[in-house]
Amino acid sequence: MEQDVNGTWVAEKEGNLNGTYYTYTVRVRGEEKEACDPYARTTGVNGKRAMVIDLASTNPEGWDSDADPNAGLTYNDAIIYELHVRDLSSDGSAGIKNVGKFLGLTETGTVTPGGIPTGLDHIKDLGVTHLHLLPIYDYGSVDEENLDKAQFNWGYDPVNYNVPEGSYSTDPYNGEVRVKEMKQMVKTLHDNDISVIMDVVYNHVQSAGDFCFNMIVPGYFSRIDENGAYSNGSGCGNDTASERSMVRKYIVDSVKYWADEYHIDGFRFDLVGLIDTETINQIVEEVHKDHPDVIFYGEGWTMDTMVTKEGVTMATQQNSVETPGFAYFSDTIRDALKGSVFDTSTGYVSGAEGLEETIEQCFMGLTDWCTTPAQTINYASCHDNLTMMDRIARSTLDSSRADRIRMNNLAAAVYLTSEGIPFMQAGEEMLRSKLKAGGTYDENSYKSPDSVNSIKWSTLEETEYQDVYEYYKGLIAFRKAHAALRLTNAEDVKQNVTPVDGLPANVVALSINGGVNGEASDGIFVIFNPNNQVEEIPLPEGVWDVFVNGEKAGTEVLATIADGKASVEPISAMVLVRSTAAPSAAGAESAAQESPAATESASAEAADVSSASGNSAGILIGVAAVAAAAGGIAFAAKKKKGTK
Ligand code: CA
Repeated sequence: MEQDVNGTWVAEKEGNLNGTYYTYTVRVRGEEKEACDPYARTTGVNGKRAMVIDLASTNPEGWDSDADPNAGLTYNDAIIYELHVRDLSSDGSAGIKNVGKFLGLTETGTVTPGGIPTGLDHIKDLGVTHLHLLPIYDYGSVDEENLDKAQFNWGYDPVNYNVPEGSYSTDPYNGEVRVKEMKQMVKTLHDNDISVIMDVVYNHVQSAGDFCFNMIVPGYFSRIDENGAYSNGSGCGNDTASERSMVRKYIVDSVKYWADEYHIDGFRFDLVGLIDTETINQIVEEVHKDHPDVIFYGEGWTMDTMVTKEGVTMATQQNSVETPGFAYFSDTIRDALKGSVFDTSTGYVSGAEGLEETIEQCFMGLTDWCTTPAQTINYASCHDNLTMMDRIARSTLDSSRADRIRMNNLAAAVYLTSEGIPFMQAGEEMLRSKLKAGGTYDENSYKSPDSVNSIKWSTLEETEYQDVYEYYKGLIAFRKAHAALRLTNAEDVKQNVTPVDGLPANVVALSINGGVNGEASDGIFVIFNPNNQVEEIPLPEGVWDVFVNGEKAGTEVLATIADGKASVEPISAMVLVRSTAAPSAAGAESAAQESPAATESASAEAADVSSASGNSAGILIGVAAVAAAAGGIAFAAKKKKGTK
């Protein structure tokens, strides 16, 4: 190579080099080292050697017209599902051929032995918009030369930032295969209306000394003090010096490359509190130039790191106003719902008291660190720490299985109706548990065997699990049907979402205006009751349709309440929408014409509601009122049609 301007080195070689492997031999301070290319587009096995690749030749059919299937959605319209590639297919009941591979996510029609859909079909049916994959760039902790041996790792140990992980390909030795198969995965997900989010880990590398960038320019990529000690805010041995110009450029280029070349629709930044705000803003700005729909979020925890320059601010929750295009995980709602991840305390759904105000704030997407619902990722569980069910079990040792499921579903109802961006760990919708061989819960399964980490699809053959799945699916469908739950700014929230005062202890209710943000209904009312008893909650004036209760959730009316009072079952949510049965003569006439069978269906509906609600005379009067207004009759008729 010849020395060129500004510390660059150049070599040119003629001919078709597609498939040629190469490394750089660098002599630094008298020492010679062989390094991979930091800009390698693909590599051979275990990422040791870069390979020249004709990227156009790796594109799947139809790639030119491939696009984000959820283009045009706001951050708040996203519903994110977090998955490890291997977990999807590593349990035998998945029925997926390409176990642990990118291609496992391209298989449709897969079922459990009992015929329940698994894998991609399951995710699609659930209704999430975005699939967030744990690291799929080349990481170091799985030996690609020994894939016959049982191995598992989450992959938070980057080796090559711009190369897909070899162990997820069917041939890690051939650099072309991992590129082709990852693109095929993205294409198939897009074809199934699912956007793809990559988990990116720019804040540290697997081994600072062996990282190719640091081999070529020692110490430049990482934060190191004058004695050669690495800053270790991440706890992973080294923090990335994102504030240095060429590190910043490298990270910006890398993210842009994944968006351009692999059509990635979102990026989840691991420990982004170690990356400076200027770098984050440049990434968002550069990627959004060509891909305005890409979403960005990360872990904005405040960590102790040693920056190499003055006046640098980190992308933390506390600094969220400085990175307006970037959202942050809300540990506020996570810990409020089910207790802190650092202890075994209870949370709102599992019996903790005095959390009403916190839950109200979380619901509004406006917490002590968050000033807009567009910057909060609302969740109850992710790959870290215990699963939701395991966490509930650990903090409520004496509770029944049935109550634990109610707690699980109440937590889901809270974060899936809240303003903000909902996020869930894969399997939460089927009571995922990470049970170790000895019967204890695994709270850090980063390298645990498949038996712990895999998604146990066969559980869905049991009613208990299937019911929870249907509940999540219903909550997601309800959220998608109601734009008022997806407000994009604080002003809209403050003007349209109102916490209700004067309720029994621990009960939280919020009233949400209709009309806002294109909301089709005339208003939504949500009630969360974590208490062990039924709570009677007064409703705002009018007739209300129940769409979510402790048992069911969805876009079908479960009951209609006209007496202004909701009975909310123990440990459950109730979500109501102002009934379309508003008495209006004009509306009555047109609705009646649309539905000739309306009268008959309405009486069937009346019978359903009265039997479901038991003995309440008030309910019966309410039903009579609904039946009297033809708008209500038409609605009931429609509902009957859709009922199985
Ligand atoms: Ca690897």
